[in-house]
Amino acid sequence: MQSDDERLGIGTLLSKLGRMSAEHHGFINTPTYRGSTVLFKTLDDLEQGRARYTYGTAGSPTLESLESAWTSLTGAAGTVLCPSGLGAVAMALLTALKQGDHLLVPDSVYLPTRSLCGGLLARFGVETTFYDPLLGRAIEQLVRPNTSTIFLESPGSQTFEVQDVPAITAVAARRGLKTIIDNTWATPLFFCAHQHGVDLAIEAGTKYLGGHSDLLLGLVSARAELWPALRKTHQSLAMLPGPEDCTLALRGMRTLHIRLKEAQTRGLEMARWLQAQPEIATVLHPALPSCPGHEFWQRDFTGSTGVFSVILHAGFSREGLAEMLDHLSIFAMGYSWGGFESLIVPVECRAYRTATRWQPEGWVLRLQIGLEEPADLQSDLRAGLDRLSGRRAARG
Ligand SMILES: *Cc1c(COP(=O)(O)O)cnc(C)c1O
Repeated sequence: MQSDDERLGIGTLLSKLGRMSAEHHGFINTPTYRGSTVLFKTLDDLEQGRARYTYGTAGSPTLESLESAWTSLTGAAGTVLCPSGLGAVAMALLTALKQGDHLLVPDSVYLPTRSLCGGLLARFGVETTFYDPLLGRAIEQLVRPNTSTIFLESPGSQTFEVQDVPAITAVAARRGLKTIIDNTWATPLFFCAHQHGVDLAIEAGTKYLGGHSDLLLGLVSARAELWPALRKTHQSLAMLPGPEDCTLALRGMRTLHIRLKEAQTRGLEMARWLQAQPEIATVLHPALPSCPGHEFWQRDFTGSTGVFSVILHAGFSREGLAEMLDHLSIFAMGYSWGGFESLIVPVECRAYRTATRWQPEGWVLRLQIGLEEPADLQSDLRAGLDRLSGRRAARG
């Protein structure tokens, strides 16, 4: 964080960051600047590019408010904005990699990131090895002469393995490798990626930063060494979000700490309640000891959010699962998370894991706990679990 702001508490910071009221007639929020062309006063100014803003793709006060706020919040040297979280993942990878490089990616990575590595990156001559997310310093054994980058995502998508980030960044530092983390679950409020030695940190702003399921946005922040390269890649691709989405993200940022605190409390309450239900075998919530890598969460994180998975006992039929999920009245099925509403989706990652064996005993469900009352959420799930177990049959 910027030195002036280092003493401030998180709520104060989130209230102050990115504000440029003096430049906007005293209005608290930076206006939503729409625009491509920016006019120059003189030939001299035009030739020299002498202006704070020169063209829509080169930035605007709206984008700058969000970028500068995120840079302070993450303690980075700079931030770029992308039109989606996956766009931010691509931006970070394209910054770090070149043809002929070898890339290490955790087996628990967000599936579209996995597809990006196996598809587009492979086509441009980058080879990916997937690794067990629970490898710490032993990841060094996978480093080859052409390895340039280690990607991390902690906790992992869907299965929530927490990684030993400091052990991995220590290996990277020793071997001169770049590191990238997808920090979407924790956000900078609950995990300080750059302070833990990571070069590029990704946030899908679509999730908790937006917080209302009404926008798509990605952010990449960089430590000093990679900031010029990140800025250059972003300028080359001109892959930016629209100004309305940045305005919504800035609005979401002002209440992020309050919403995350609620997500933490409600998420844990629901996770503990689920753990006590007879149909549930294991709860994969980073703040509970049953989650692989929980000890790293305890050591490195300052909080938990409201997304986690549960493994059901074996023996429930597909029909029973459909009965459970099709008739829920509060939880709904849909991708993404981090909004105000509760969501539930089945998780199936048996088919594509390559470095680790993922063989849960029964169905796996990922839950996003929203801001509804936990008692109502529990009634909804209990009724669903009754429908599930009412049709107990051998599972195919
Ligand atoms: C959702 C998500 C993304 C992608 O964000 P989009 O804005 O939906 O593209 C990337 N990483 C993680 C961990 C996510 O959960």
